[in-house]
Amino acid sequence: MRDSHGRTIDYLRISLTDRCNLRCIYCMPEEGVHALSHDDILTLEEIERLVRIAADMGITRVRLTGGEPLVRRGATDLIRALKGIPGIESVALTTNGILLPRMASELAEAGLSRVNISLDTLDPEQYRAITRCGSFEDAMAGIDAALEAGFSPVKLNAVIVRSLNQDVLSFARMSIDRPLHVRFIEYMPVGESAGSCGCGWGKEDVIPSDELRAMIDEQAEAAGLGRLRPASKHRPSGWGPARYFEFENAQGTVGFISPLSRHFCSECNRLRLTADGKIRPCLFSDDEFDVRAALRSGGSDDAVRTVLYEALGAKPDEHHDKVGTRRGMSQIGG
Ligand code: SAM
Ligand code: SF4
Repeated sequence: MRDSHGRTIDYLRISLTDRCNLRCIYCMPEEGVHALSHDDILTLEEIERLVRIAADMGITRVRLTGGEPLVRRGATDLIRALKGIPGIESVALTTNGILLPRMASELAEAGLSRVNISLDTLDPEQYRAITRCGSFEDAMAGIDAALEAGFSPVKLNAVIVRSLNQDVLSFARMSIDRPLHVRFIEYMPVGESAGSCGCGWGKEDVIPSDELRAMIDEQAEAAGLGRLRPASKHRPSGWGPARYFEFENAQGTVGFISPLSRHFCSECNRLRLTADGKIRPCLFSDDEFDVRAALRSGGSDDAVRTVLYEALGAKPDEHHDKVGTRRGMSQIGG
């Protein structure tokens, strides 16, 4: 599948649910979250049918996200089903890790290809402050469980917010002793509160990746670790838009994802599916295409295909520094 800007689109990010067992300050309000009703969200069978059609059109990789994808009942069965679809080479998961100690081995057995775990701090108190309700011990146990279950690679995603003052060196250090790939993500202006006050996004809270890398280098040198150097390890496909570095003799890598300071729109290869069945051509655009209606009206595969092609045709060339979106990250599927 090619979009109107000549980009090959072969990757679909699927939000399984807008619900979550955490309430991260940069993602969701603490209270008053209006959750989608049961009837609004796509059934697992509808998701599977959509992926089958999308695979036929050229989608080869899917990632399950949310909200927290592992709180959706049947997530493991869906992974097994998606893995069995001809043309689907990889089924990945982005999770906060809280449920991994319970679920990692069944996910591996179901054929999950890779896992990204979101964790923004190694300080238990700060973890609780950021997630508003999470247990740091559970998240760390999730990382252990992912490694024990044999997932490779295991990537850790950290959103860095200037005013939170996270200890970034401790984080980067996690890449040294175990095969963990730590990735620092620029804080993005998604959701209605972006650009306003409170815990909403503000430009001053973004640390551009180059500045962050310089900070880590300075602290690492002072700690005797040396500076980060471009990663030498072989990168299999699916490593996405991060730029990777490593410490000497490290088992893992340190990556930087820079949607704002060095956006990767020209390499964008994805469409998104929201939990309520809208195809979203771009994270930063409010344009959505209703594939649920096509899936539910007893419509043919052609009707579903038409919606996918419409969404493809609407992919913007880039996000043009847009600030704020009608729906938040947990609703869109980050
Ligand atoms: N609950 C799962 C998790 O936390 O990994 C999956 C959904 S979450 C919305 C997906 C990713 O989006 C997480 O890595 C999270 O840190 C990131 N995210 C949420 N809000 C963000 C923001 N405003 N800027 C950058 N990343 C954000
Ligand atoms: Fe939940 Fe993930 Fe959003 Fe945190 S970032 S509130 S874990 S959906």
